[in-house]
Amino acid sequence: MALGEFDLIRKYFTRPTQQAVLGIGDDCALLQPTPGMQWAISSDMLVEGRHFLPTVRPERLGHKALAVNLSDLAACGARPVAFMLALALPRVDEPFLAGLAQGLFDLADLHGIELVGGDTTAGPLNLCITVFGELPPGQALRRDGARAGDALWVSHPPGGGIGDARLALEVFRGHLSLTGEEFERVRCAMEQPQPRVALGQALRGLATAAIDLSDGLVGDLGHVLRRSGVGARIEVDALPISPALARQPRALQQQFALAGGDDYELLFTAPATAQAQAQVQAAADAAGVAVRRIGQIEAQPGLRLLDAQGIELTLALHGFDHFSC
Ligand code: ADP
Ligand code: MG
Repeated sequence: MALGEFDLIRKYFTRPTQQAVLGIGDDCALLQPTPGMQWAISSDMLVEGRHFLPTVRPERLGHKALAVNLSDLAACGARPVAFMLALALPRVDEPFLAGLAQGLFDLADLHGIELVGGDTTAGPLNLCITVFGELPPGQALRRDGARAGDALWVSHPPGGGIGDARLALEVFRGHLSLTGEEFERVRCAMEQPQPRVALGQALRGLATAAIDLSDGLVGDLGHVLRRSGVGARIEVDALPISPALARQPRALQQQFALAGGDDYELLFTAPATAQAQAQVQAAADAAGVAVRRIGQIEAQPGLRLLDAQGIELTLALHGFDHFSC
């Protein structure tokens, strides 16, 4: 007989509480904030066919569902504390649930964060996580703090770049072909993004604005520019590109790095002084992440994409818009 809803929650999602006053099993979870701290709260939903392929391994799906949420906390500079999981399942598939829980809790343990509640229902496969983090009042990294003259930075995996998740997606779609080790690496970028939680916290008091890259660099930067009332220029040749993407045609490299989507890296601004640049580098080193200066914030509204010679490029870019593709 298939496992009932409450047995399923008990078997796969209930673990001893750590920091929560009350965890799974009551009408509400109870959390006690550290005195003097502010909550940072965010939700992200993953829908089959829209945000992940039906063929993804459940461990990786569990990882990604939490990772994209932790990425939002990272972009605010918050320390992750707890999360909720709302789950719609087409059927009770125990190997799937075991894998999902494994991927979820492995990443949760890595960040010292606990699952404190949620909801479970029958329906098309859908995972919605809400994360709770905390940070000192007034220290959140926001989208509205970029100032003309600030340097524009992006994080990336050491030895890698941005745009790899889109490269993997196009391989899955049959539009491009990659094999062996190279395919595994870009597939990992797509299915197991690493949220830049340590970097986000290290940038508190240093970055003037930040956002995590989920829909593509140009689209996400647009949010920062609009909220901050500024413009920017990007030196397209300075974008970090992985060896796998570097083997693709140049136009494709630019397209995927600028508008690929699903990167979950941090895009941030900081003063362009030598001292602030050294501090950004030190923050990245301490977080074990690479960062690259890719441009500059300017008073003139709009975004300018320049090549190494300073010549403006006109690229046909499409962000990863869930309602148009
Ligand atoms: P209620 O009917 O009061 O909303 P539920 O019966 O839906 O509560 O859930 C029972 C308990 O299990 C609650 O504490 C809820 O937070 C938790 N829960 C339900 N689904 C999940 C899930 N997918 N992951 C974690 N906790 C869950
Ligand atoms: Mg209730």
